[in-house]
Amino acid sequence: MVSLTGLPRVRLASLPTPLEAAPRLSETLGGPAIWLKRDDLTGLAMGGNKARKLEFLMGEARESNARLVITAGGQQSNHCRMTAAAARKLGMRCLLLLTGEPPATAQGNLLLDMLFGAELQFVGDVGFLELDDLLKEVFERQRRDGKEPFLIPVGGAAAAGSAGYVSAVREISDQTKEMGLSPHYLFHATGSCGTQAGLTIGAKALETGLRVVGVSVRYDERTIRDRVKRIAGETTALLGMDLQIADEDFDVLDGYVGDGYAKPTAGCLEAVRLLALTEGLILDPTYTGKAMAALIDQVRNGKLGPGDDVIFLHTGGTPGVFASSETLCRACESSDL
Ligand SMILES: *Cc1c(COP(=O)(O)O)cnc(C)c1O
Repeated sequence: MVSLTGLPRVRLASLPTPLEAAPRLSETLGGPAIWLKRDDLTGLAMGGNKARKLEFLMGEARESNARLVITAGGQQSNHCRMTAAAARKLGMRCLLLLTGEPPATAQGNLLLDMLFGAELQFVGDVGFLELDDLLKEVFERQRRDGKEPFLIPVGGAAAAGSAGYVSAVREISDQTKEMGLSPHYLFHATGSCGTQAGLTIGAKALETGLRVVGVSVRYDERTIRDRVKRIAGETTALLGMDLQIADEDFDVLDGYVGDGYAKPTAGCLEAVRLLALTEGLILDPTYTGKAMAALIDQVRNGKLGPGDDVIFLHTGGTPGVFASSETLCRACESSDL
């Protein structure tokens, strides 16, 4: 089936990442057995899901002889932080467009962007969909100026990036076979949707029986479905696969966004705290906390019960914890867990 061997790729991630049981969490919730796929441990500049995407995206960048990589995101973008690190590792420069105004002090991902010497342009109050248009304009200007740039869309949401998650399903499938597991669901946070596109292709092509459940951290269900299907179409074309991804092939939960992107809900803060207390595990307040809040809620409202075994894909986001220290301190002090 899927041959990724023809695609340009650079080694950036430590793979395979562990697939670990979460016995104390599973017992506390009293529902399905939960397993953690530790893509927070991919290793590139503090880890996260973008390392798998960047192996193929930066492979393309290198093949096109680019000298400058341009991408964009929020100030606490994990994607921007890891792109800045990957660019340094490959001897390229990096230009980041970041939403909002320059803050008085830099923390978390932004601090690391600075450490990696990325050129930062703050673009003000711009939505994620407009940010991709702005990125194209900046790219064109840099190209005309002879900077030999390579453009990576917001979140690395492009076919080559998703190929990294098609390949991740092979890794998960090998691990579950070896461990004698047959999980039913694969929960993860979905933002720019490339991770979900790759996972859905992999799960269907390899006939894993795994249902991919994306928990939205910003868009409504319709927007996510359209993005996943578009990126999946581009990815199967890149891989030369004869496979269609349709709405029935994956699930989207859009009821856990709360007040918006990067605004932690009460459920998210509870999830961050619960995983810390039961498994000694760090979740982040923007992505993995909301995805875990959804999983916890699905168990509590009876939608997932014993026998519905779940793999939770930990997509990283660790530096974001330090950029939310006030919110998290308050959550720890007021928590009755
Ligand atoms: C980017 C990101 C996601 C979402 O992945 P997409 O491919 O953009 O949907 C989830 N979790 C973390 C920590 C991320 O940085």
